[in-house]
Amino acid sequence: MTYTYDPQNIFARILRGEIPNKTVLETAHSLAFYDISPQAPVHILLIPKGAYVNFDHFAAEASAEELVDFHRAAAQICASAGVAPGVGGAGYRTLSNAGSHGMQEVPHYHLHILAGRVLGPLVL
Ligand code: 5GP
Repeated sequence: MTYTYDPQNIFARILRGEIPNKTVLETAHSLAFYDISPQAPVHILLIPKGAYVNFDHFAAEASAEELVDFHRAAAQICASAGVAPGVGGAGYRTLSNAGSHGMQEVPHYHLHILAGRVLGPLVL
């Protein structure tokens, strides 16, 4: 598989500190910040610090340490926001867009974490 990563994408620039962000959580391999255009009361983006284009790139090439760090970070964000059912929260949705049919806008892998209201069925 071949993946071409654009180092000028917005999230790469956020990781380099060239663009400000409202950080929610930073770990060894991941960064989470508020989406600039929130679609729900809670709308957080979680990204790996590594240069991965999308989910399939990340899943194929990230180390086990990066993969665990990323998913634990996602769970920690949901717990800290009080939305994880495991901490008595009302729930959340995670999703990731990939490629043109997925309508991915920023070509650096990211997980949307949405919560804070009933999100509705996943109708497209
Ligand atoms: P995608 O369509 O690629 O899955 O989602 C990209 C997300 O990044 C969108 O929800 C958009 O609002 C968000 N976004 C785009 N530019 C910026 C930015 O400069 N800062 C932040 N915090 N979010 C951004």
